[in-house]
Amino acid sequence: MNPNTPSAFAVPRFRALRHETTLHEFRFELRAWLAANFTADIEAAVQGSGYADADDSFAVKRRWNATLADAGYAAIGWPVEFGGRAAGLQHQLALNEEFAFVGAPGPVNSIGVANIAPAIMQYGTSQQQHQFLWPMLRGDTIWSQGMSEPEAGSDLASLACRAELVGDHFVVNGQKTWNSNGHRADWCQLYVRTNLEAPRHRGISALLVDMGTPGIEARPIRTMAGDTGFSELFFTNVRIPRSALLGEIDQGWSVATNTLSHERAGVASLYLNTRRTFDRLLATATKLNVSGTRAVDSPIARNELMRRYIEVRNLEFIAKRTLGAALQGRAPGAEGSIIKLAWSQASQALSRTAIEILGIEAMSGRWAQELLSSTSLSIAGGTTEVNKNIIGERVLGLPR
Ligand SMILES: Cc1cc2nc3c(=O)[nH]c(=O)nc-3n(C[C@H](O)[C@H](O)[C@H](O)COP(=O)(O)OP(=O)(O)OC[C@H]3O[C@@H](n4cnc5c(N)ncnc54)[C@H](O)[C@@H]3O)c2cc1C
Repeated sequence: MNPNTPSAFAVPRFRALRHETTLHEFRFELRAWLAANFTADIEAAVQGSGYADADDSFAVKRRWNATLADAGYAAIGWPVEFGGRAAGLQHQLALNEEFAFVGAPGPVNSIGVANIAPAIMQYGTSQQQHQFLWPMLRGDTIWSQGMSEPEAGSDLASLACRAELVGDHFVVNGQKTWNSNGHRADWCQLYVRTNLEAPRHRGISALLVDMGTPGIEARPIRTMAGDTGFSELFFTNVRIPRSALLGEIDQGWSVATNTLSHERAGVASLYLNTRRTFDRLLATATKLNVSGTRAVDSPIARNELMRRYIEVRNLEFIAKRTLGAALQGRAPGAEGSIIKLAWSQASQALSRTAIEILGIEAMSGRWAQELLSSTSLSIAGGTTEVNKNIIGERVLGLPR
């Protein structure tokens, strides 16, 4: 069965999670389900895998993703008609916490479920919604997001990948880069320039592109951590049907910006996962014997661990403040930049401290992998400098 065929699946309807299911009942139900389904073999396979998964751990995560979706836990905040449970923020937070406690991963299409899907729900035709959302949620189809180009990163509005409407097809020519999961993707939410005359922000469109279309080449990029988590994409005279347009032509900037605020519950995962990494480091340093004493007994190690603990708790308090504001209905503002900054700095410092305290023990395997891959956190999802600009201008009121 081809998962790209619209009629190949039926979306299950789960019971909506409303207030009558208390948080306590929900956590109870979820813990029992995780205990039965998040088995030791799945845990072992996904351990140490992260942003850039090896093919075998990606395959395990994909199977786990299908189990999650079939049980109604893959995206409980999604509407019931698309396979979600219409849950509010508190139930979503509870789920993220329970998953983080046991180390269970969420859906493999993390950018898809958090950003691309809300865009399809808001701007997509019912045909697009029916065709794409459930297979994306289940991990049956893999999605990537094609925004960045060699000359357009932080300044996304300068993107140049061109799509010219010829009859009932767009003809796409150009290049994208840093495309997460690009070489695995079945589909790409691609941002293209459709109007050369309009001001920069008004000449962009979003297309939902079948990556099997002739003329598309995905070249994996190997990072210094040794993985191939993302790719460069090359488009040469690629014919994409007009029906692939998401939203109105030349209105892609709205699609990009309006849909980035949907994943508020996700900030809980950031601090919980960072806390979990800290706890793992503390446990390892307590067990590890270095020249006859426990690694954790060195005064330098204790000092560094205290600093990391403070940073991790600080991240938690900032995140909880934002979540509290969201629960009271306030829209997320520039605080998102503070969380992003605090999270990237805390995560990078944690992996540096792990190497310093654990020494040779940490020079290979999971800690070494984390040290190398955590450097990308200063860039992914908005660079440190750009976030500092936002905090300086919009939070502190400094001049541009
Ligand atoms: C792990 C990871 C996954 C990614 N996944 C995707 C993906 O799936 N899809 C996708 O499209 N892209 C993805 N990206 C790309 C990412 O969005 C870009 O790297 C990011 O937007 C920065 O763009 P750039 O690399 O071109 O750097 P540039 O924007 O060229 O920045 C270069 C340097 O200049 C600084 N700078 C830029 N503008 C300013 C300014 N106004 N003021 C001060 N300093 C500034 C930056 O901070 C940086 O240090 C990913 C990146 C990473 C690291």
